Parts: sequence; C-alpha cells; structure tokens
Amino acid sequence: LGGSISRALHQMTNATVIDDKVLNDCLKEITRALLRADVQSNLVDDMHTNIKNIVNLQHLAAGLNKRKIIQQAVFDELCKMLDAGKPSFTPKKGKSSVVMFVGLQGSGKTTTCTKYAYYHQKKGWKPALVCADTFRAGAFDQLKQNATKANIPCYGSYMESDPVKIAVDGVERFKNENCDLIIVDTSGRHKQEAALFEEMRRVSEATKPDLVIFVMDSSIGQAAFDQAQAFKQSVAVGAVIVTKMDGHAKGGGALSAVAATKSPVIFIGTGEHMDEFEVFDVKPFHSSEYLIFLAFVLGMGDWSGFMDKIHEVIPMDQQSELLQKLSEGNFTLKLFQNILKMGPISQVLSMLPGVSAELMPKGQLDSSNPKIMNESRIMRIARGSGRQVREVMEMLEEYKKIWSKMKGLKFPNKGGMSGLSRN
Ligand code: GDP
Ligand code: MG
Repeated sequence: LGGSISRALHQMTNATVIDDKVLNDCLKEITRALLRADVQSNLVDDMHTNIKNIVNLQHLAAGLNKRKIIQQAVFDELCKMLDAGKPSFTPKKGKSSVVMFVGLQGSGKTTTCTKYAYYHQKKGWKPALVCADTFRAGAFDQLKQNATKANIPCYGSYMESDPVKIAVDGVERFKNENCDLIIVDTSGRHKQEAALFEEMRRVSEATKPDLVIFVMDSSIGQAAFDQAQAFKQSVAVGAVIVTKMDGHAKGGGALSAVAATKSPVIFIGTGEHMDEFEVFDVKPFHSSEYLIFLAFVLGMGDWSGFMDKIHEVIPMDQQSELLQKLSEGNFTLKLFQNILKMGPISQVLSMLPGVSAELMPKGQLDSSNPKIMNESRIMRIARGSGRQVREVMEMLEEYKKIWSKMKGLKFPNKGGMSGLSRN
C-alpha cells in the first residue's frame, strides 16, 4: 500500500502536464490504498475533498510547482488524519492524577495499564493500579501479578462486586499514599453493552479522572470508529492507545479512533511484555518516525531537506556516526533505527495510512539490506502476509530506491555541520 500511494504520486510526477485528470487519477489511487488499509470511508472522502480544495489547479498561479503542491497537500492531509488537533492532558509528576482506562475486553487494557505505570515509574513517578473490573474472573489476579512484577502497588477486591466502590476506595487510598499517577483498570465485557457503558459512566463520575484513555486492538479495523465513539459518548475519552502493533494489523482503525474521539494516539503497544510500549508522537517533523514515513510513502525527492531535518533531530555526536556509516554505504534501516532511537519502524509505519504492516514483516524488511532478499524469502513473506509475490517485489523495489538514494546522499556542509564527515 505504501507502494500504491507512492506509485500514484510517481505517476503524477512523470506526467508531462498536470491537469485535472492526472490529479483525479492520483487521488483515486490514494483513496483506494487508504480504504484497503481499513481507513473509514468518510475519512477518506474528507481527505479527497480537502485535497481537491487545496489544489485548485485552475486557480494556481502559473510558474508554481503543481507537483510539489499536490505532494505537500497529500502529505499534510495524511498527517491531519492522525492529528487530533489538540494534545491530550498530560499528568504532572508529583501532582496526583487519576487516569482511567476503557476499552472492550481483550483490547489490552490490563496489560497496557501496567505498561503505562511501569513507563512512568522508570521516570521517577509513583504510580499505583486499581482493578475496577469485577466482571472478568481473575481480573484482579491478572493485574496484581503484573503489578507485583514491576513492584507497583495495586488495589482490588475479591469480595466487593461494585466496581464503583472499588474504584473510589482505591483512588482514595493511593491519594493518601501520595501516589502521583493512579491508574484505574476497568471491565470491557462484550455482552450487555449498554450496561458496560453505564458502568464506565458511573466509575468516571465517582473517580473524576484527569484523563480517560481508550485502548484499542490495532486489528479491529473498520469497527474502530463505532467502538471508540460509543466509549466517547459515555466518558470523556482524551487519548488513545493502540495495542498489538506487533501483529499483522492494517492499522487504519487507529485513524478512525482518533477521528471518533478527537483524541491523539499517545502510545502504542508492540508486544506482551512490560517494556514493549512506545510513545507515539504524530507531529510532522518533530518525530523521526514521520521523517521516515515521509521518505518512504511519498518517495520524497528533497533529500537535502531531509538531511537538514536529521541535523535538527539527532544529537551532534550521533550525527557523525550516522554520516560515516552512510558514506561507507553501510546504511540499513536497522542502523537508522538505532541512531534515531525511534521505535521499530515497521510498527510505526504500519499505523499510518498507505503502509501495510503485512508488507513489512517484523525483523525482516526493517532490519536487512533489501539487496540480499532472495527468492525464497520473498515467497515466504508473500505467503505469510497473504500477498502476491508481485506486490512484495514492488514493495522491495520501493525500499531499494530509498536505500540507493540514501547511499548517494550529498551531505550539506554548512555552518556548524562542517567537519562532521571525518573521511
Ligand atoms: P483486557 O481484556 O482489555 O484487559 O486485555 P488484556 O490486557 O487482558 O490483554 C488481552 C491479551 O492481549 C493478552 O493476552 C495480552 O498479553 C495481549 N496483549 C496486550 N497488549 C498487547 C500487545 O501490544 N501486543 C501483543 N502481541 N499482545 C498484547
Ligand atoms: Mg482486563
């Protein structure tokens, strides 16, 4: 799908004249790619309309670079789809905050509660966990086990059956113990949905959370919008966490959740373990993931601009290492990943429209030189991802292009940058 979008843009770039037909064909391709990535159709329609409005070919002054304008509009709109427009509430260390987790059973709430607590604990916070799930047998034990592993205090009850009472007692107790991050895990049973939402409303009213986080499984696809909206209607959802990004999800559902809750994705879950949890920041040009996204999906030609951004985001001492490796032709995405300290690229990318996780199997494409991909490996990826061999080949071609561009980079040698490349 990454291929589809960049192919569409390339076709447009190759056209001699940019007219409405070229633009429409390009948009049609992109629309298709997004729909296949499970992005909700009205979001795709909006994007289509917005781009058409921005790129009004008849009204563009002569001499303007239409291709660039279209590429920029497409990129901006893709960014906007994951941008809730406002940041979520961020708890402050040392001030007691209550954070309530909601989401359907199996979405990963209990696991994610502990990951969230552990993440903050490592940064010097004093988190605590409250189990307000009285529906699922063993819910308290599950949370307690996780909490014990990370040495995080946990409150719950085997006797009490009222989740509101437990939540209130737990929050009060941990406030008294001066915990600065009190996390309330809730039930998420599928049956009796109305009762679930009513329960969420009551727990929320009683504990007055500073932040409600909606947890969704990345694989739910088109169902994400309704699910997120249903929670949003009963409690004030302020942030989204997408779990199981390590699986083979298409990730389009994350966009729907953002749209339905008007809340940003703040973390992603990338595995079952406590530390398989990453901050997600969507702001273009502020996160290194987005630079890669930009380069990858849009096949952007402006490599010196790309390098400028790298200079901005990478600490000086690491720049020289990166540049040296690059100039030795030793560039792998794995290396880039280490140096930029970004999350696993495929997981982040797969979350974005137009990029399919299935085409980027973990630990294969993202860590290897595409040149050494042999036929059986390609077949294996194709089989594993349910794709045509042809599609995998196209994806690899895309990769190779980026890879060779990277190798041929000329590094801008300006101002403070001089002396960076040692050879
Ligand atoms: P809850 O019902 O919403 O509380 O969901 P749980 O936290 O019990 O998680 C359901 C299952 O999903 C468990 O087996 C978790 O180990 C698993 N899980 C949660 N988050 C992730 C993730 O990011 N990646 C993977 N692979 N599994 C996860
Ligand atoms: Mg649970």
